[in-house]
Amino acid sequence: MNDADHAIIFDIQGYSVHDGPGGRTLIFFKGCPLSCRWCCNPEGIRPQIELMHRKAKCVRCRNCAAHCPEGAISYDQKTGFPIFNRKQCNACAAHSCRHGCYHQALAVAGKKYTLAEVLRKIERDRPYWGGEGGVTLGGGEVMAQYKFAAQVLKACHDMCIHTAIETSGCAAWEHYEAILPYVDWIFADLKHMDSLKHKEFTGVGNERIKSNLARLGANQAHYRMILRIPVIPGFNDTKENMEASAEFMLKNNIREINLLPFHRLGASKYDQLGLQYRYADVKAMEAADLETLQNIFLQKGLSCYLGSETPF
Ligand code: SF4
Ligand code: SF4
Repeated sequence: MNDADHAIIFDIQGYSVHDGPGGRTLIFFKGCPLSCRWCCNPEGIRPQIELMHRKAKCVRCRNCAAHCPEGAISYDQKTGFPIFNRKQCNACAAHSCRHGCYHQALAVAGKKYTLAEVLRKIERDRPYWGGEGGVTLGGGEVMAQYKFAAQVLKACHDMCIHTAIETSGCAAWEHYEAILPYVDWIFADLKHMDSLKHKEFTGVGNERIKSNLARLGANQAHYRMILRIPVIPGFNDTKENMEASAEFMLKNNIREINLLPFHRLGASKYDQLGLQYRYADVKAMEAADLETLQNIFLQKGLSCYLGSETPF
């Protein structure tokens, strides 16, 4: 979906202090060209509105199947839990099965919003941000719905609201050009310097991403840019990759980086979406290992922040 009048958004969070200066409203756009194996927002990957089943709340009453017009629900013979045929299910706009569930075991990820609806949410939150706050658009990938995002960002600028985006860097450069006049701050990911490795773990190579980051780095008179590396054990947490990332930054006038340690906070959502989570047994990073990687950037004269320690 890339419509200037509507967007599919899977969450609007009223108050955050980690994604830009001050208190902020975060808007999560649904759909992403990457499918990172460790993604902590898997409900943001697919573009369509989709059903989530919370087994912990399900009493296996079988009521939902009776409300499904598509015949998309069957039951596991052994456990009694419902099984959702996602292909059939994706065609359903009403998600009628939810009305048959009296135990809040069914929810949907994603909702269609108009610009006016999003702006109402922003106005609702504005009194709570404090002097320096604003709006941050993320996802999923905000650029996958850049036409609508441009409208939100422009409207914010017209209202003197500070704007930020979080992006994977994976979009056509012309789409970035459409939103940049209205952006004050950019968080951009760099997941791995090696394109083959990048493709193996995220589903896409990194050529376009590196090209966009270089262009964003060259353009910084109009916004502040912070690179972000989600540090994933067994993928990109090597000295060689961090050194190559630091060299890339120096070459492209990018002076700040945020290392985000791996966590498993999104794990339960995989099961709810009928997806496999491959990082269930991977441990969180030790602080000392993260600091070793941080030093690689610091020694090259770059500003490197760990986790939520980014100075805004
Ligand atoms: S979302 Fe629609 S198609 Fe899918 S299981 Fe529920 S009622 Fe059936
Ligand atoms: S109606 Fe709700 S509680 Fe009953 S089987 Fe379906 S999802 Fe589970």
